[in-house]
Amino acid sequence: MTPAPEPQRLLDVDALSRALERFAVERDWTQFHSPKNLAMALTGEVGELVEIFQWMSAEESADVGTDPRTAQAVRDELADVLIYLVRLADRLGVDLDAAVRDKMQRNALRYPADEVRGSNSKQPTTRS
Ligand SMILES: [Mg+2]
Repeated sequence: MTPAPEPQRLLDVDALSRALERFAVERDWTQFHSPKNLAMALTGEVGELVEIFQWMSAEESADVGTDPRTAQAVRDELADVLIYLVRLADRLGVDLDAAVRDKMQRNALRYPADEVRGSNSKQPTTRS
């Protein structure tokens, strides 16, 4: 069985970027959306996501979805992270879809599946 073809786009980042721009414009918040501020906000949201998992065992973290309140908190923080990431990329003129595709291609070359399968080593192969 042949694998399904890759989708044309992995995420509809353009639609999300437009929605976030509209949200900011309606509130006159674009004045606050410098790349510096957005990068800092992104970091803060990542911190809020990490805080949920802080002190959990690996097993507890895998079961985080079983508690509805915690699952909702994780969902909210993941959304916050994506919102600030997409907003930052938009303000910097970075095409996230293209950037992710480029990075995934380089990662595939750097970490050939046949050479790294089952290994958690971050050492790149000589093909980087
Ligand atoms: Mg948050």
